[in-house]
Amino acid sequence: MKRKIHLSVALLSTAITILVAFFMMITFYKFNNNNQMDSLKNTGNLISNVIHLTDADELNTLKTHENTNVRITLIDSDGSVLFDNKADMNNIENHIDRPEVKQALKKGTGQSIRYSTTLGYDTYYYAIKLENNIILRVSHEAENPLTAFSGILPITLLILVLIFIITYYTSSLLANHILRPIEVFTKNIGENISEEAFKYLSVYDELSPFIRTYESQNKEIENKDIDLEEKSTLLDVISSSMGEGIVLLDTSMKIMSINNSGIRLFNGSRNISYSGKDFIRLCRDLDLNQTLEVSIGKKSSNEVMINHNNKYLNIYINPVLRNCELTGLLLLVVDSTEKHKLDIMRREFSANVSHELKTPLTSINGYAEMIKNGMAKGDDITKFASIIKREGERLLSLIDDIIKLSKIEDNSDDNNLEPVNLYTLGKDVVNSLELLAKEKDIQLELKGISIFMKGNKGMLQDLLYNLLENSIKYTNPGGLVQLTICEDSKKTIIKIKDTGIGIPVEHQDRIFERFYIVDKSRSKKIGSTGLGLSIVKHIVEFHKGKISLESEVGKGTEITITF
Ligand code: ADP
Repeated sequence: MKRKIHLSVALLSTAITILVAFFMMITFYKFNNNNQMDSLKNTGNLISNVIHLTDADELNTLKTHENTNVRITLIDSDGSVLFDNKADMNNIENHIDRPEVKQALKKGTGQSIRYSTTLGYDTYYYAIKLENNIILRVSHEAENPLTAFSGILPITLLILVLIFIITYYTSSLLANHILRPIEVFTKNIGENISEEAFKYLSVYDELSPFIRTYESQNKEIENKDIDLEEKSTLLDVISSSMGEGIVLLDTSMKIMSINNSGIRLFNGSRNISYSGKDFIRLCRDLDLNQTLEVSIGKKSSNEVMINHNNKYLNIYINPVLRNCELTGLLLLVVDSTEKHKLDIMRREFSANVSHELKTPLTSINGYAEMIKNGMAKGDDITKFASIIKREGERLLSLIDDIIKLSKIEDNSDDNNLEPVNLYTLGKDVVNSLELLAKEKDIQLELKGISIFMKGNKGMLQDLLYNLLENSIKYTNPGGLVQLTICEDSKKTIIKIKDTGIGIPVEHQDRIFERFYIVDKSRSKKIGSTGLGLSIVKHIVEFHKGKISLESEVGKGTEITITF
């Protein structure tokens, strides 16, 4: 804008200068003309007064002054030329039709200016009627305008230059002054425009609609910016707090965006920026890369499960389309390792359950068959019947344990929470196991204080029963089993300690698994199911507690539960 104004100012200054020069020339030319005519009149009057026009000598004197630039002509009242100091008298024509002569004959004086095409400039004529009706005409060739100008040219040029400079300078100053507020305003565009800049600009009433529009648009943009920022922060928060991985690929399988979970699940490094890198640098799994290529080729959704660094990942691939054109792929990566393990466990569990149920039933069936066919006689019948009873009881306790497990897993007892006095509960359990302990000559002790905790009474009873029963089962006669209920730094602690056979280190991690039994022959004898500790673990988890185990073969086992 400034350049445009400066250009306009320069053009305007030039135009003004040219105009001034033109008018100066016209004025000077007119002034010069008037001057020349006046001087010609003076000369004419002077000659008419001073020289005796009848005197031939004097006229000849004028003729001798051929160098004078004034032409003197004497014309008779009929137009015939009597004397001319410059022209050849033999060829001279009648002058009666000359305008200045005509005027002089009528009014006493006459004047005219005529342009000579041959000379290229004007000639001034002045005629006076003398007393004897003779016309004295003086004429003078006008000065060549260019020659006349050359005299005043330097001063004219100086004036013109000065006019140009002054016009240009003042217009520039004016333009700068007018543009200053706009400049201050525009300099601030893009940043926060200060109040001062607005005040500056508001001096122009004409700009107030523009300011208003600018302000409202600015506010709109600001709001949109905030909106966008909020949306992008929200997206960032969502994607970064998601446990699932999100990966955005372009059509050449380059990573456009990936969240932290995505990097973690593919075992990438948090210090590397994967944006713009090939996906294969993050995951080389052949299956996945081939499926991605298929999805790009067919613009189709796909699902693939891969085993990546001991993790089972379910990857849901979705094409990203814009105007039906594929622009990339969106990958949702779900860690299904736990689910996968659970599936395996469930399958193993079903197989184990069927096996565990089948074994006692087969033996019950077998013995019952023998009794039915009369193959058992006398004492055998009692022996077989007691085996059937024992196997039946084992079957019952197995079914009981399975029901308990599935109940805990379903969290169906979630609403049965109540304040439970663990010490009182422990006392009840100890009492119910007193007989079993006595039979095995094991000393059963309860220590500690009354502590209340909010929990499921039935489950907590099962927990204490299972652990104490295990301790009695796996402790040799003469041993000691202790139950302690205590508190430590506001945590409720249950300890079950025995001086039993202990658990070998290699089994310690696995005894909480379903149907896991350390010594199968021994467990079978004592009617174990391998579900007891699994139930205990689930009950502890249900109450958001922790269970730990310390055991040494031949010395004993201590199980600690902290709520
Ligand atoms: P079970 O019904 O066989 O007792 P559990 O799940 O309760 O099943 O126990 C799993 C295995 O852990 C048992 O077979 C046993 O070998 C071992 N075990 C559990 N408690 C003790 C303990 N107090 N002392 C020694 N071994 C134990």
